[in-house]
Amino acid sequence: MSSIPSTKRVAVIGGGILGVSTAVHLLREGASVILLTERGLGSEASGRSLSWLNSAGQRSTPYHQLRVAGVDRYRTLFAADPGREWLQFGGGLTWNAAGKGAVTEARHAYETSIGYNSRLLTPEQISAATPGIDPDAVPENAIFNPGEGWVSLPDLIEFLMEEFHARGGELILNAGKVSVMVDAGRAAGVETAAGGTYEADAVLVACGAATPDVVAPLGVDIPNGSPVSMLVLTKAVDHELKAVLNTPRAAVRPNPGSTLALDHDWYEEHITEHTDGSFSIPEDIVQELADEASKLIAGNPELKPASWKIGYKPIPGDGEPVLGELDHVPGCFVAFTHSGATLGLIAGELLAGEILTGSKHPMLSTFRPGRFS
Ligand SMILES: Cc1cc2nc3c(=O)[nH]c(=O)nc-3n(C[C@H](O)[C@H](O)[C@H](O)COP(=O)(O)OP(=O)(O)OC[C@H]3O[C@@H](n4cnc5c(N)ncnc54)[C@H](O)[C@@H]3O)c2cc1C
Repeated sequence: MSSIPSTKRVAVIGGGILGVSTAVHLLREGASVILLTERGLGSEASGRSLSWLNSAGQRSTPYHQLRVAGVDRYRTLFAADPGREWLQFGGGLTWNAAGKGAVTEARHAYETSIGYNSRLLTPEQISAATPGIDPDAVPENAIFNPGEGWVSLPDLIEFLMEEFHARGGELILNAGKVSVMVDAGRAAGVETAAGGTYEADAVLVACGAATPDVVAPLGVDIPNGSPVSMLVLTKAVDHELKAVLNTPRAAVRPNPGSTLALDHDWYEEHITEHTDGSFSIPEDIVQELADEASKLIAGNPELKPASWKIGYKPIPGDGEPVLGELDHVPGCFVAFTHSGATLGLIAGELLAGEILTGSKHPMLSTFRPGRFS
């Protein structure tokens, strides 16, 4: 796609999936890349994500199309080696609370209307569609989306970083809060917290929920709607679950090592933010989420939380992705989005193309940061 000089140097700030994916796509196209991140790789949202690969529910058409393309890229990766324990396509199963069967039906009708593979099932039909679920947990009906999957982002980041290093990328961990340097109105490189500077022809800010803070000194306002959320990993447990479950009291996905990843939002009020920026939650609330998840799994196995991580889930103020170059600071690009697991590969691919060729991809046209100015 590119005819750029191989010497083009790009600085990527942020070691989550969006920074790592874009860095690898840049390297594939011949750029010279330096990736700097505050602490370790995957230290924020990408290290604690449910990472359900999907385009379910009702979103804007461009967002839906981008998510479908995102799932497509994962399918390509999956096809190259279906045996990877960290990337699987077992579908997704969604249901609502008792009395909300009509809401489920409406969602199914919408998904069908846009050609999204969606099957409306009674509890009795679930085991024939996907294994490992207690049908008694399903009050009325459920939607099975057979085309969906899940990824473990820490494993994907590790996988991509092998290519990053093989292609000669430069990695700076524990860089502290990195900022964008501007010269004559254009992005000129980055500066670490300790004052180290790195010149670059272009800069990508992929700082997750911190992205608005990193571009604010440039005079750019990106509304931030990032909530606090938690991901729990269980100890290993015997289970047959293949699908990602989205249910009224727990979201559950398989995870490598026969463990399960658990997520939801009902416990948000129990999370405390401390003055040092860390978060905590009472252990009995974590166990309550595990107990809710247990009710969904065939045989209702006892689920024991092994670890849990809490922090911000990156969501732009208007809910739509923010991807592309800043109008006011040419050469400075941003990647800030919800569904960043689903979009991780496609957003990296399209942004790398824009950074290197200067040509705007039509699929990103409604997601430009300039919409807020
Ligand atoms: C609980 C939970 C459930 C989710 N479920 C799903 C799902 O089912 N499907 C889906 O598609 N998506 C899901 N997501 C969203 C998805 O995980 C995120 O959108 C994605 O991981 C964001 O990746 P990122 O690279 O943008 O940000 P992050 O992973 O947050 O990485 C940002 C990086 O930037 C670094 N950084 C920040 N500021 C600076 C700075 N000034 N200098 C240097 N480095 C800096 C951070 O340390 C971090 O390493 C979920 C997220 C959470 C938290």
